Amino acid sequence: MLDMTHHRPQDLTVDRAAGTLTVLWQGGHRSTYPLRWLRANCPCATCREQRREAALQVDTLTLSAGPPPSTEIINAELVGNYAVRFTWADGHDTGIYVFSALRQSCPCADCNPSGPPPLLPDD
Ligand SMILES: [Zn+2]
Ligand SMILES: [Zn+2]
Repeated sequence: MLDMTHHRPQDLTVDRAAGTLTVLWQGGHRSTYPLRWLRANCPCATCREQRREAALQVDTLTLSAGPPPSTEIINAELVGNYAVRFTWADGHDTGIYVFSALRQSCPCADCNPSGPPPLLPDD
């Protein structure tokens, strides 16, 4: 119960100019995620499969992989009370970002001194 509460945001702010998402968690901790990182960690099945394939390919192939995905958010929508779904400027909207996973991947030095771990998929 207490644990769940700490994985709930009090406030979510997308700062388009700075390119960040800031989450103020119940309990007062604040996490700031670069939108670029969120997009690169999109937890949807399609992106996870693409990342898996990219990891298997040699660099020469990934270089010709077209324009990079958009890192601009045009909409954020709560999914129940456990996750948030973003719509990116290129129309991609299938990634469900679960709050408990976001909380664990907080990029601040207190939570993850050696950098944030990749987002845990929602399954
Ligand atoms: Zn995706
Ligand atoms: Zn933190």
